[in-house]
Amino acid sequence: IDSRLPRVGTTIFTVMSALAQQHGAVNLGQGFPDFDCDPALLDAVERAMRGGQNQYPPMAGVPQLREAVAAKIEALYGRRYDPGSEITITAGATQAIITAILAIVHPGDEVIVLDPCYDSYEPNIELAGGRAVHVPLTPGSFRPDFARIAAALSPRTRAIVINTPHNPSATVWSAEDMQRPADLLRATDVFVIADEVYEHMVYDGARHESVARHPELAQRAFIVSSFGKTYHVTGWKVGYVAAPAAMTAEFRKVHQFNVFTVNTPMQHGTAAFMGDASHHLGLPAFYQRKRDLFRAGLANSRFNLLPSEGSYFQCVDYSAISDEPEEAFCRRLTTDVGVAAIPLSAFYQGGFEQRIVRFCFAKKDETLQLALERLAAL
Ligand code: PMP
Ligand code: GLN
Repeated sequence: IDSRLPRVGTTIFTVMSALAQQHGAVNLGQGFPDFDCDPALLDAVERAMRGGQNQYPPMAGVPQLREAVAAKIEALYGRRYDPGSEITITAGATQAIITAILAIVHPGDEVIVLDPCYDSYEPNIELAGGRAVHVPLTPGSFRPDFARIAAALSPRTRAIVINTPHNPSATVWSAEDMQRPADLLRATDVFVIADEVYEHMVYDGARHESVARHPELAQRAFIVSSFGKTYHVTGWKVGYVAAPAAMTAEFRKVHQFNVFTVNTPMQHGTAAFMGDASHHLGLPAFYQRKRDLFRAGLANSRFNLLPSEGSYFQCVDYSAISDEPEEAFCRRLTTDVGVAAIPLSAFYQGGFEQRIVRFCFAKKDETLQLALERLAAL
C-alpha cells in the first residue's frame, strides 16, 4: 500500500504497555491512572443513560456540558467563550487536535512544533498535507527557545502548537513565556493550537497559564483539553476545544464529518459532575502528593530527577546507571526490573538521545511503592 504515513508504526505507548503486561511489570509508561474515577461521576453517567440520554446529541456537544466548560474557563482564566458558537465537545483531545489541524492547514503549510512533543502532532500535520517544522526546547531545561521559534516562522507558517503543562518534560510555561509568542505572532495570521490537557495538574502553587488568559493569543487559538485527564477516565475519550466563533465554525465543518458527535451519556454525566468545581480544583494537591511520594522514593537512587512542575509525569536521567539508548533501557527496565517507562527519544522526530526516560505517577500509592522498591535498588 502506498502509505499516507510511511514513517509511522505502533505508538510507543502501546508498545510499552503491551511489554509491561507481557512481563507483569508495573506500568509507569503510558499516561493513565490505575485507580478509578469518583463514583459520583459514574452515578451521573448512569442517571443519564437510564434517563434515556442515549441518542445523538447536538453536533457540537450537549449544551449543558458546553455551558459548564464555558463557566469553568471564565472562572479560572477570565475569558468568556460562548457555548453556542465557541465551544465544541470532542472525542478526547486527540480528535480535537487533528480536527483543528485539518480545519486550518492547507497542503504545503508549515506548523511549528516544539520538540520533544506528543506523538500525534506530526502525523496529523502530514495528513493535512502540511509539514511539521521542529524547534527544539532548550536541552536540559526544556524551556522554550524564542529566538529559535522566531527564526522558524516563515510566510508558510500556518500554526504553532503550544503544550503546557508539557508532556513529556513536565515543565510549565510562565506568564512571561506566554507573552513571547504573543509578541512574535502579533503581526502574523498564524494560529495557535494550545494543548492544555494537563491544565489542572500544576504544582508548588504555580498557576496554569492558559492561552485563555492571554487575549492576543486567545483570539487566534484553539484551546484543547481532556476530561479523561481531569476526571481519571482516559478511556472515555471526551474532551473539548474552545476557539473564537469564526475558528470554531471551521473546526465544526471538519468535526461534523470525522466524528459528528461524541457519546451522549458521558457528556450529560460530565456536565452534572463539573458543577462541583472542587473536583478539578483539588487535582493539584491530589497529584502533587503522588509526585512528592515518587520523588522522595527516588531521591537516594542513582536516577537524577528532573523538575516536575506540572502534568502527571516525572522525567529522570539514568546516565549514572546505564549507557544504553533510551528505548533499550526502557525495554530492559520492563523485562528485567519490572517497571515500564517511556523513552524521551520517542517524543523527538528522528529520536534524539539524552538518557532520559519518563515515568507516569498517576498511580495508586501501592503501585508507586512497588515500582520504587524495584527502581531504588538499581
Ligand atoms: N495531548 C497530550 C499532551 C497528551 O498527553 C494526551 C494524552 N496522552 C493527549 C493530547 C490526548 O488526550 P485524549 O486522551 O483526551 O485524547
Ligand atoms: N498521552 C498518553 C501519554 O503520553 C498516552 C496516550 C496514548 O496512548 N496515545 O502517555
